[in-house]
Amino acid sequence: MTDETVFTRIVAGDLPSETIYADGTASAFLDANPVAPGHTLVVPNSPYRRLQEMPPEEASALLSTLYELVPAIERAVGADATTIVLNNGPEAGQEVAHVHWHVIPRFDDDGTLVEYHSLLEDGLDESERASIADAIRDEL
Ligand code: AMP
Repeated sequence: MTDETVFTRIVAGDLPSETIYADGTASAFLDANPVAPGHTLVVPNSPYRRLQEMPPEEASALLSTLYELVPAIERAVGADATTIVLNNGPEAGQEVAHVHWHVIPRFDDDGTLVEYHSLLEDGLDESERASIADAIRDEL
């Protein structure tokens, strides 16, 4: 765990927020700079920086919270779908060093809101894919 973040202050009630859900493990509040109506952040109450720092039972509890919140958020804003994103580390665009899932409501024909540009100009051939898969299996 690490220092206090803006999200620990929200969880503690020390910063104003539009909190929509809170239990002993997780909290959810509207993003201050929403990219769509209903854009919500779902956070563990403890300030883990990255997903892999969380105890598995807390990660599971957070997933259960997402499971409950996502359809409610979709219904509340009339969304057709949701993009659910976790920027896991600063190089991935994580600005607040406190694990948070973005739940971003999506609408038919809303265009490409979240774009991924490939880092791989020529893709990967089968042997490269196989050796990456091997390397990941070795790490498990
Ligand atoms: P990320 O870039 O994945 O770390 O996302 C951080 C998100 O936190 C951004 O979408 C911000 O708009 C949001 N954010 C920062 N400060 C606050 C705040 N005080 N209340 C709600 N959302 C915030």
